[in-house]
Amino acid sequence: MPINATLPYDDQNIFAKILRGEIPNKTVYADEWALAFHDINPQAPLHVLVIPRGAYVSWDDFSARASADEIAGFIRAVGHIAREAGLVEPGYRLLANVGGHGHQEVPHLHVHLFGGRPLGPMLAR
Ligand code: AMP
Repeated sequence: MPINATLPYDDQNIFAKILRGEIPNKTVYADEWALAFHDINPQAPLHVLVIPRGAYVSWDDFSARASADEIAGFIRAVGHIAREAGLVEPGYRLLANVGGHGHQEVPHLHVHLFGGRPLGPMLAR
């Protein structure tokens, strides 16, 4: 079920539990600002989720409330992960779902990073 991205942060969401180490994950990258791990239901040969360490519901919440350091650290982490995975030359896709129409299911900001094959047009038709 998609979430309502205007609700307050729920620290019982599954990615909050992953950040606290309460649920296992297949970590790809971790630093002060971000954690990246393999999606449990991959939609491409490489499907990684990158999340900020801070408690932000969505891209909307993050872009409104996060500090400049948090935003820079998170965005740089996404780029670093793609470069380290060798995705720049073949290309890749970033996606952040927000709220109901975006079909966001987990209420902690996450950027999907897809790669490893031609990904086709942006939206299903
Ligand atoms: P979204 O629809 O953008 O909220 O996507 C949520 C994503 O989280 C989906 O691609 C799920 O497969 C993924 N997901 C849910 N639970 C886990 C988990 N425990 N570990 C890794 N990925 C997960």
